[in-house]
Amino acid sequence: MNLNRIVLKWGGSILLLFLIVLIPTGFILHTIYSGLYYNDKEEEINDLSSRYANAMKSVQDRDILQMFVTLSGFTNNEVYIVDKDGMIVADSGIAGIVAGEKIKANELATLKKGEAVDKEYHFLPSTERFLVSGKPIFNEDSFEGGMFVMSSLDAIDQSLTQVKLLVILSGIVAFMIASGFIFVLSRKLSAPLLEMEKATRKISRGHLQTRVNISSDDEIGHLAAAINDLAVELERYRSNRQEFFATISHELRTPITYLEGYANVLKNELYETEEEKKKYLSIISDETKRLVRLINDLFELAKAEEEQLTLEKELVDVRKIIDGVIVKVSLKAEEKGLNIEKNLTKHTQLVQGDQQRMEQIFINLLENAIQYTESGKIKVDLHEISSNQVKVTISDTGMGIPDEEIPFIFERFHRVEKSRSRDFGGTGLGLSIVKKLVEMQNGTIHVKSTLGKGTTFEVIFPTADKTSLS
Ligand code: ADP
Repeated sequence: MNLNRIVLKWGGSILLLFLIVLIPTGFILHTIYSGLYYNDKEEEINDLSSRYANAMKSVQDRDILQMFVTLSGFTNNEVYIVDKDGMIVADSGIAGIVAGEKIKANELATLKKGEAVDKEYHFLPSTERFLVSGKPIFNEDSFEGGMFVMSSLDAIDQSLTQVKLLVILSGIVAFMIASGFIFVLSRKLSAPLLEMEKATRKISRGHLQTRVNISSDDEIGHLAAAINDLAVELERYRSNRQEFFATISHELRTPITYLEGYANVLKNELYETEEEKKKYLSIISDETKRLVRLINDLFELAKAEEEQLTLEKELVDVRKIIDGVIVKVSLKAEEKGLNIEKNLTKHTQLVQGDQQRMEQIFINLLENAIQYTESGKIKVDLHEISSNQVKVTISDTGMGIPDEEIPFIFERFHRVEKSRSRDFGGTGLGLSIVKKLVEMQNGTIHVKSTLGKGTTFEVIFPTADKTSLS
């Protein structure tokens, strides 16, 4: 039998516990039962011996002695009577008690003092034990002898043996039932654990389709469900990663192909005019810039996704950050003839965030707004929307995003009409980085857009908890 360790551990401990309870219980039962019975007997013979001894005045009359012997027979007890010298003068015929013999000197001395003799009597080789109560017989003040009443402990011994047997037997039966029960229970418990162990090992070897087939609504079932969830998550992660690498290599290959192509044109002097040469050089320069940006963005995103981007959080004034960002991007906006209109509430509460990352978020959003807007204006709003939230709105009058694209806009490499973003030199990574950065600073980001009319990005940050300000 393949006893695995959990069965041994569980079964062993429960059985041990069981024995720890059973053995003292049997012992206590035995002690209580025998104690009760013993006390009863003791009281009975004490009472009888006292009454008999009080009823006797002398031990001379044989008939009276015989009468007491007969009387004790009615109560299922035995008696023997001794005279003042301690010699047995009458008895009901118990083995070892012989008329004419003397009782022990110390017993006689006790009786003479007017005290009772209590003892147990056992005459070998008989197995029968007796409880003995001896009382002195006095006539006025003179000591006449002693009356001993004996009661056999045979019945109690027998029933105690029976009780003991019963306790042991029920113990053995209970022990066997419990062992069987524990064994079945432990097997039932360990079987799913073994199955889960096998499944997790398979998953760790890369078989991510492996699932655990346990659906019980208890801790084991929940653990199995958690393992299955983990496998699903790993599968999704693996397929995401594959897709991610496929996209990266595609994204990297495109500018490199351009670079290679135009570099060859220049190397082999396959151009006709100086102007043409300049055009090719400027394409090479643009594509190099795009490649650098792509690599930087990828690095940034990878760090963010692996949660390795460390933020240096402090209390920041979002208004000041936006002011600075607008100054930075205004040249680009002017080049396109776009006006940036700002409407910033003067004193908004501070936000717990990373100054530089915060800047990065708004630069990205503003650069996008400038990039995808040909005419009109860009508006930046900042105000508190509740006592503990600030909202930044960046809206433009640009080309907008089609409704069906909006759910995917924050996914990496997602570009609306692939050619559109390429024309603008985008990488398709900006918004996914922005979203990560916003979330890492406990904020949320939403987009509303109408194709051909414009786009609005809303970023909401919780303001710093006043109690945390130090
Ligand atoms: P990219 O580097 O290509 O701009 P982003 O992740 O920043 O990548 O943006 C993803 C796509 O979302 C872009 O390709 C663009 O089509 C669209 N987009 C982003 N911002 C705007 C905007 N303000 N107006 C219109 N389209 C936008």
